[in-house]
Amino acid sequence: MSWFTTATRVGFLLLVAVCIGWYYDMPLLAVAATLLCLVGYWLYQMYQVQRWLADPGNPPPETYGIWGDLLSQMYQLQKKDRQARARLQSTVDYLQNSFTSMRDGVAIVDDHGILKWFNEPARLLLGLRSEDEGQSLMNLVRAPEFLRYFNRGEFGTPLEYRTGGDSSSWLSVEITRFGAGDRLLFIRNITASVRMEKVRKDFVANVSHELRTPLTVISGYLGTFLGDTSKLDSRYIKPLQQMQQQADRMENLLKDLLWLSRIEGEQGIGMHTPVDIRALLSELQDELRTAYPGRKVELELAADHKVAGDYRELYSAVSNLLLNAIKYSKEGSVVRVSWRQQDGSYHLAVSDEGIGIDAAHIPHLTERFYRVEDSRSTACGGTGLGLAIVKHVAASHAARLQIASQLGKGSTFTLVFPGQGKVATTRESSTPPAQGTTTVTTRV
Ligand code: ADP
Repeated sequence: MSWFTTATRVGFLLLVAVCIGWYYDMPLLAVAATLLCLVGYWLYQMYQVQRWLADPGNPPPETYGIWGDLLSQMYQLQKKDRQARARLQSTVDYLQNSFTSMRDGVAIVDDHGILKWFNEPARLLLGLRSEDEGQSLMNLVRAPEFLRYFNRGEFGTPLEYRTGGDSSSWLSVEITRFGAGDRLLFIRNITASVRMEKVRKDFVANVSHELRTPLTVISGYLGTFLGDTSKLDSRYIKPLQQMQQQADRMENLLKDLLWLSRIEGEQGIGMHTPVDIRALLSELQDELRTAYPGRKVELELAADHKVAGDYRELYSAVSNLLLNAIKYSKEGSVVRVSWRQQDGSYHLAVSDEGIGIDAAHIPHLTERFYRVEDSRSTACGGTGLGLAIVKHVAASHAARLQIASQLGKGSTFTLVFPGQGKVATTRESSTPPAQGTTTVTTRV
């Protein structure tokens, strides 16, 4: 019923009241009495509405006129709201049920770090109790690595850490933001895969170590035979030279494998010595001058920053980059090394004017034994482990490795170290990489 209809009815009532009042010679009294009745009726309707609003679960009372309309509209709205809530609740229940039945731990933490919900595996993995819901996660999980990771707020890569206690298991924690600052935590027990990885590393290290002694003996004898070829039957000279070449290659391979397993094992240990990159680069330049007298290596030292880390590791990484730059570029072309500050970070870049790398290969270059061109790499004495070593050294120094290359024009390999007080973010770069440029690494 519209306002107009109500107003017409009231007007009609008053008109009737005036007519009756006129007849009895008291029109004002009749109008006043009618208005009083109307106000009383409306007050009663309002009372009914207010009573219903206090407990809207029940059906609305019988009301008429404008109040009846209002009440029925409110009832419809309330019904729709109830249905929407029920739908939402069933979605929440469905999601909660699926999270509950997951074998991985799932927990929800709000923007103040308060634990809102967690499933049974999360309870077991994080050592929580059922009554911990509503508590601050910071007070419940004591592992310092976890607290650092959680507070840092950069969740690009999952955290892997060892939990305390005798059982000593490894957990992987992945955090995703959602809603207004809430966080969803996925917690997984990765002890088995960490153990497998350790077995693999130990196996490679042991085999490499065991192979070294027989190889040294073989190389020694080959060196002795080839030291005086006059006493050798000429038929054997070429095969023996080839054998020595392959033995040298194997020796380099074992050396790289052992070094790789060593830096993998020591990742992050003893990383606090300030390393003077200027001195390191000058030393490398001198060494290359002696080893490759025909090659020109230009140095640009524009930063004075010292990197907290391990001198030998950084030396091996940069020397791998420099040796590649020399190996994969023509005699007479220049290899440039620069050390400078840029956008708050420190960049160590090694550039060459060599053969370059097709963009499709760039993401795979740091994989062990990955070669763009097998024959060329082998001919150059490559082991296929150089860039894997660079990647590991970058990771343990919180640095990123950026690779930019153009086929036929040359390549630039850049190690980006975080500025003071900053830790390099992982798998992300502040500026999008240029075409043919890939940012590789790192697990901090
Ligand atoms: P290798 O010992 O075979 O050089 P690396 O891991 O050092 O192994 O490099 C992997 C591959 O990346 C190489 O086989 C080579 O094809 C390519 N590569 C590395 N550096 C350069 C470069 N500066 N120019 C062109 N190709 C390169």
